[in-house]
Amino acid sequence: MTRVVGIDLGTTYCAVAVADRSGSPSIVRNREGENITPSVVMFQGDTVVVGSQAKRSAATAPDHVVQFVKRYMGETDPVYRSESGTPYRPEEISALLLKRLKEDAELVLGEPVEQAVITVPAYFDDARRRATLDAGRLAGLEVLRIVNEPTAAALAYGLGRSAGDGPDDGEDGAPIGTVLVYDLGGGTFDVTVMRVEDGDYTVVATDGDRNLGGFDWDGALMNHLNSAFMAAGGQDLNEDSGLQAELRDKAEIAKRTLSTAAQTIVVLSAGGRHEQIPLSREEFEEITAELLDRTRIITEGVLEEAGLGWADVDRLLLVGGSTRMPMVKELLRRLSGAEPERGIAQDEVVALGAALVALDAAVRAEEAQDKRKYVGSGASVDSAPGDGLARLTQGRVKSIRDVTSQSLGMVAVHEEDHTLEYNAVIIPHNTPVPAKKSDTFHTLSDRQSRLRVRVTEGDDEDLAYVKTVGEGVIEIPRYPKGAPFEVFYSYDVDGIIHVEVKDGTTGRWLGEFELERPDNLDPAELAELGDRVARIPTL
Ligand code: AMP
Repeated sequence: MTRVVGIDLGTTYCAVAVADRSGSPSIVRNREGENITPSVVMFQGDTVVVGSQAKRSAATAPDHVVQFVKRYMGETDPVYRSESGTPYRPEEISALLLKRLKEDAELVLGEPVEQAVITVPAYFDDARRRATLDAGRLAGLEVLRIVNEPTAAALAYGLGRSAGDGPDDGEDGAPIGTVLVYDLGGGTFDVTVMRVEDGDYTVVATDGDRNLGGFDWDGALMNHLNSAFMAAGGQDLNEDSGLQAELRDKAEIAKRTLSTAAQTIVVLSAGGRHEQIPLSREEFEEITAELLDRTRIITEGVLEEAGLGWADVDRLLLVGGSTRMPMVKELLRRLSGAEPERGIAQDEVVALGAALVALDAAVRAEEAQDKRKYVGSGASVDSAPGDGLARLTQGRVKSIRDVTSQSLGMVAVHEEDHTLEYNAVIIPHNTPVPAKKSDTFHTLSDRQSRLRVRVTEGDDEDLAYVKTVGEGVIEIPRYPKGAPFEVFYSYDVDGIIHVEVKDGTTGRWLGEFELERPDNLDPAELAELGDRVARIPTL
């Protein structure tokens, strides 16, 4: 069986893990011996430096350092331009991170690492999932699955519990009940409600904000510190990129200090002026109260979607480095009246869960191969979950079922007024995946020869409030106006969309659409950038 690694590709840190054949996952350290690698890339001429070394340079060489790239995944604008003017897209920067993680894992495991499972925030949309897949490909990895971070976290957590840990644990030690995963990382916020019952992990509802994380707490603190520095007669630190990067560093350190200490002092220096700015946890919590409240609103919304109240939550799981801030625990304690789970390695739990999914993928690939050998090549191999993982984990993980985080629809034309377009939802959000649903649309003119499908993401009927993911055109037989065509949308387990069309008159399948995704790389770009990434040495 080949080794498949699980990778948590985070906004601020990444982690890699593998699971052994007994189903127990462990972190694979990087070449510096660290459990997590900062998601920071520094360009140095033709080479790039990745990780801690690059992070340390963020203040001294800010113009050559790229960080927080996860925030831009699924967008087309370059996030960096080299000195010679070469633009780098978010996928490429992520690929450089992944390449380094792959090389480190190979070094530590002593064998080639070619396949991986990569995690993404649950609410990542199609373009961002696709961009993550592409980043893996650019790094020379075969990405077997894209997994939602809270699902991975719950898996690792569920598996990590030993028998009899809690009053409502199953005989085999798996936690039973409704689990709320509150994941506040460096750049993103994700909340998921999940049912865990006898080894079956079923996501009920999920939502998040891709632009809410520790980064924003740092930003609020930076503003506060900068104002204090200016009020004392200092210059505006935001006007110089080096000083700003230094301010960000200091703000982050102060934030971390305040997770354990009640106060701290931040020393700021610029233009020959030195200021000592005292800061208490209380002040910090006041400055960032609005950010915390945004997480509350999203969390309560998810519970409502799940049709549950706080009293129904059996376990609260805190994931992501930013949940170390005492204000997070206090908020959840106050809302739920319960104590969040302790003893969870916030930075590692997602990668550990990904390693379990990776093991599952490897076991399935092996089983499929055995089956192929058995029934002869060319036979179809069913993709239903195998029992390999259940066996390896002694029944503690039997199935993993996720839901769609975005509603998927199609731009439809109003039956009476053809100038009116609206969004017709085909797969509502929080539908279990894999999902396949259809809707019937009618041709608008006699002898219409083509059908255009524009795929949307979002709930609103008004097209102004939804995103167009991609579109495709398919040739159709010419019929009188009003001929029915059934458009099928499916969401695979990775959360990637496929579209097929059936002729409603004859019942014949017209085929699958190749969606043009304007936000993602096309095959030619993928090949070109893959070569480029392969040529760049990562230190
Ligand atoms: P993650 O993306 O889950 O690795 O989370 C990284 C985020 O957690 C960054 O914004 C860190 O500043 C933040 N973080 C890490 N440790 C602490 C801590 N002790 N207190 C507050 N925030 C922390």
